[in-house]
Amino acid sequence: MNPVTASSTASLGLPVLPVRCRSGISRSPDSSQLLSRPLVHDARHHAAQNFRVTASAPTVPFAGSPPGLDTNVWDQLKNTSAPTYPRLATNTSADVVVIGGGIAGLSIAYDLVRAGKKVVVLEAATISSGQTGKSTAQLMMWNDNYYYKIEEEGGVATSSKVADGHRFAIETIKRVSEAEKIDCDFEYVDGYLYPADERPSSYQKLERELQACRRAGVSGVERVDLGGDSDVGGIRTAIKFPRCANFDPLKYSQGLAEAISKRGGAVFESSRVKRAEGRRVTTAAGQSVETPVIVFATHSPLHRNLTLHSRQSAEKLYCVALKMPEGGMADGQFWDTEDPYHSVRFVKGTSKGDCLLVRGKNHVAGIKPEEVDRNTYRNLEQWARRRWPQAGEVAWEWGGQLYEPIDKLALYGQDPFNGFQLDGTYYIATGDSGQGTVGGPLAGKIISDQILGYDGPWSEVFAPARLPALSKDTAASLGQVLSDVTAGYVDLVSPAGAQPLGADDLARDSGAVIQQGLLKVAAYVDEDGVQHKHSAICPHLGCVVQWNPIDRSFNCPCHGAGFDRYGKLHDVIR
Ligand SMILES: Cc1cc2nc3c(=O)[nH]c(=O)nc-3n(C[C@H](O)[C@H](O)[C@H](O)COP(=O)(O)OP(=O)(O)OC[C@H]3O[C@@H](n4cnc5c(N)ncnc54)[C@H](O)[C@@H]3O)c2cc1C
Repeated sequence: MNPVTASSTASLGLPVLPVRCRSGISRSPDSSQLLSRPLVHDARHHAAQNFRVTASAPTVPFAGSPPGLDTNVWDQLKNTSAPTYPRLATNTSADVVVIGGGIAGLSIAYDLVRAGKKVVVLEAATISSGQTGKSTAQLMMWNDNYYYKIEEEGGVATSSKVADGHRFAIETIKRVSEAEKIDCDFEYVDGYLYPADERPSSYQKLERELQACRRAGVSGVERVDLGGDSDVGGIRTAIKFPRCANFDPLKYSQGLAEAISKRGGAVFESSRVKRAEGRRVTTAAGQSVETPVIVFATHSPLHRNLTLHSRQSAEKLYCVALKMPEGGMADGQFWDTEDPYHSVRFVKGTSKGDCLLVRGKNHVAGIKPEEVDRNTYRNLEQWARRRWPQAGEVAWEWGGQLYEPIDKLALYGQDPFNGFQLDGTYYIATGDSGQGTVGGPLAGKIISDQILGYDGPWSEVFAPARLPALSKDTAASLGQVLSDVTAGYVDLVSPAGAQPLGADDLARDSGAVIQQGLLKVAAYVDEDGVQHKHSAICPHLGCVVQWNPIDRSFNCPCHGAGFDRYGKLHDVIR
């Protein structure tokens, strides 16, 4: 594997082949998604533009695999039978353009296509290559921000609408998968919230949540004793939430894309949107779509408005899949009261057999490497083994990202942060809180209803233009987000923004942000000892990224953009 210089990467001009099937696709790295290649050429980014890159992404790891797809329990890279979609190659027009081919964008597009709208979906990489394809796909009736906390801030009127939204989303996935014959392994299971430890405060939390769930009208919720056997992770006392569901997020979203396409919608992959202004959306390759309505379903919206980015914080989260013997685990979903919490489900029939999926260990994106727990995956694994000692070897481990809104509720609806005009042009779906497989269908309903001219029952609760409830919790979350963003900017000039190291000091296969003259540099030394250096300034909001040793990536503290070790954007694509 020969490293290539930045200039040779840029001038290679590798042709990007049309997409035909999921296997055997060769794609060039999109140079505009590199750390050192900002999309907007303003003064703030000059340092990034001018920084000389000493080595760039090798072509080998990306060759042969669709861009953005991960190796995880859903076997995205092996799933070669799913249909693929072309790159947008000509200028066109539509009633609505949906940017983003994850569960939110596809749910919105599906509802609009069914209502007879001419819809274009533009996906930067591949359908469900964002967080949807990384999800553990537990459709929960529990809201993981706690119904009692939501009630404290918005009253029972709000908590009951949120509960109803969960129910609606789960029923929607069932209904759509049946109507469109999407074989996505949908299965109703019970969900269980249980105390993380024996402290009285953990039991009190459980009791408060049970009472709040009853007031919110969560159907059938009750306190149960699970018996404490190893198939239920030794859990005894728990609150049971009936009619949660598990599914395969990859199969579902690929099926939705197919349904959209069959019903006359136009789906494009490898079509990264670079600009969305006025009534025109333009891709990085220069094609545009004229449209009166633009929906940003890109997990985090494209625009750079700091008001929006201070409404939510970006968090990293991690998963481990452990092989399980047949019958080794009871069906169900299990969530503890720790903060951040662990969530566990069972998945049958993966290419490596039955597995237990455990998710947790969230931390704010872009924290300094010394604050990161380098043993995250091992700790997650050990946590799972203590509860399910019958678990076998690790089958997969992977990470992802979520956006946590400061007032606990997602932002679905007209976008007040884009030119501050609520004239029906711009819509956003963001702030998933790590529960976006429920949020996607809900965003679909809210946003498609609004585009079609009516406000459904959830419009107000999830309106991005709402004022966050005044509470201690909200103030603390806002303070935390502002301090993270400020730290990202202070790091531009502060020596503390870099490690006291040179690139020569880095061990093989490790990275760091280092100081080089006046510049902060994101440096990675690969297994062969080759140094890869990029400007450490994130091309989106201009903050300094930080090295994340867990998934060997660089993360931005301001709004969570993630770059792989070679400086290529992989989370939050702009
Ligand atoms: C590890 C993990 C476990 C999770 N477990 C659960 C769970 O158990 N239950 C649950 O409810 N939720 C879970 N979630 C959360 C859930 O997966 C997400 O909230 C949900 O998938 C978000 O969907 P989305 O469509 O909003 O975003 P995404 O799936 O990220 O889709 C956004 C899409 O936009 C595209 N895009 C970005 N920029 C552009 C651009 N400029 N032009 C064109 N396209 C662009 C991206 O390529 C991407 O495909 C989990 C998430 C993770 C990471």
